Amino acid sequence: ATQKETLGFQAEVQRLLHLMIHALYSNKEIFLRELISNASDACDKLRFGINSGHLKPALSTTNANDFTIRLRADKAARTLSIEDNGIGMSREEAIQHLGTIAKSGTRDFIAQLSGDQAKDAQLIGQFGVGFYSAFIVAERVTVESRRADAPADSAVRWESDGSGEFSVETIEKDQIGTCLTLHLREGEDEWLSSWKLREVVKRYSDHIAFPIQIQQESWDAEKQTMEVKDEWETINQANALWTRSKSELSAEDYERFFESLSFGNGKPLKWAHHRVEGRSEYTQLLYLPRQAPHDLWDRNQKRGLKLYVRRVFIMEDAEQLLPAYLRFVQGVVDSSDLPLNVSRELLQESRDVKAIREGCTKRVLSMLEELAESENDQDQNDYALFWREFGNTLKEGVAEDFANQERLAKLLRFASTQQDSSEQTVSLAAYVARMKPEQEHIYYLTAESYAAALASPHLEIFRKKGIEVLLLTDRVDEWMLSYLSSFAEKSLQSIAKGSANLDKLADDTEKQAQATATEAHKPFIERLQQALQEQIKSVQVSARLVESPVCIVAEEGAMSLHLQRMLKAAGQ
Ligand code: ADP
Ligand code: MG
Repeated sequence: ATQKETLGFQAEVQRLLHLMIHALYSNKEIFLRELISNASDACDKLRFGINSGHLKPALSTTNANDFTIRLRADKAARTLSIEDNGIGMSREEAIQHLGTIAKSGTRDFIAQLSGDQAKDAQLIGQFGVGFYSAFIVAERVTVESRRADAPADSAVRWESDGSGEFSVETIEKDQIGTCLTLHLREGEDEWLSSWKLREVVKRYSDHIAFPIQIQQESWDAEKQTMEVKDEWETINQANALWTRSKSELSAEDYERFFESLSFGNGKPLKWAHHRVEGRSEYTQLLYLPRQAPHDLWDRNQKRGLKLYVRRVFIMEDAEQLLPAYLRFVQGVVDSSDLPLNVSRELLQESRDVKAIREGCTKRVLSMLEELAESENDQDQNDYALFWREFGNTLKEGVAEDFANQERLAKLLRFASTQQDSSEQTVSLAAYVARMKPEQEHIYYLTAESYAAALASPHLEIFRKKGIEVLLLTDRVDEWMLSYLSSFAEKSLQSIAKGSANLDKLADDTEKQAQATATEAHKPFIERLQQALQEQIKSVQVSARLVESPVCIVAEEGAMSLHLQRMLKAAGQ
């Protein structure tokens, strides 16, 4: 007795199916991604069941290494089958899983559909709809399944044309697992072609951990047709490097993978590979490149990590996974929690994504901190290399990432009067360690170029007193400094602004001399003040100059002259 019965789909499923069958679909190919992902999940579940001792497969031959996902195209019958030897389904499970929608997220999504077919079709395309997407290309779907722990005679055949009802009957099935057969709609013959299958598998399912196979074909010269052979060829890499354990992988493996990610951007400087558990579960494989891409400065340029969900490729350049100032980082995030059909819009709101972003940011900062330890290594100062390529990008973080500002400030490097070159090698910590006992501030000077900074009259007094001044000549410096007011409890002080802070550095005789000079030149100072009253605020005698007769000083808290010049140049 096969006990055939006919049942109705849950109302939500009916709505969904109706839409899928009647809407014109733009990216039909997602059905294959969904069905392969289900097959892969089924293999995962069985492997886990066996390994954990929860499940005893009926066939003793089931070996954890023998899992395959096979695509079989039958040109004569116009069917495409997707067959796995995973966990399978019982009759009750088939009714439950293939007749209702269990996931609340998907149900909510369906409730949102407007009834406007074009719009809804687009939405579904982004969202993906799991098993039911089979009906995008199939007018009838047959599922034959045998639970891995069930006898051969208690398998199930589920069948539907997607129009409201499905039938189930008990059948015999030799193999455990599930075989889905799609009876293709008119015009969907491309799914019978092996190159089309290869192309779509390569695009979405290359890193599925199990071999995805198609039958080999050969040209039969006598019959003048392609004949299918009974030999199977694996068409995916079946090798998601990031899912393997670190101990199995060599530096070369990582370097080769980086090459595939970065399209030949040389070797990486450093990488980090971790499985993160906790609020959100995911694997991260992050690389610091050695070289900046030519478009690093183009804020509209694509950036971000590759996003996978349980090894299924979801999208390139998921910029939500890292803040903009870390856009030089390349790599992969593989989430266990996100839905397969997550769109860029959904990524923005997801709490899982927020956790991933924070986790990846922290990881990159740790990598940089480790890299910075190489600084004292004369032969291989990788941090200097990094800083030259990406230092300016990292500076943006000081302004944009308040939560990590302290860590970022430690990673900054500057040119300084202590050094004989324009090379940015001085950290704030090193500066603070060299400060004079009576010195209260970290002094800096912003300028358009290193040469301009060195020629500044503001430096004279500092040279004379042997006080180090950081020389900041990059465009982002002013902006960054407006967010960074102190380091290690020392405030950062521009030497081109104000004057009060210099007083403490002057000794008594200097102070005396300054007072006397002010007194002696009173009439002259008043005349100057008179003549320049439109342009300046006040004229003061100062000890800050050694060789130059006069310099212009910005008011404390005012925009620096350098910034004023920059804004003027930008037409503001
Ligand atoms: P999801 O995969 O997100 O759970 P789907 O609509 O893709 O949603 O699949 C619904 C359910 O049907 C799955 O959760 C699983 O229980 C069952 N299923 C689908 N395909 C298979 C398969 N090949 N083997 C075993 N069970 C399957
Ligand atoms: Mg699925």
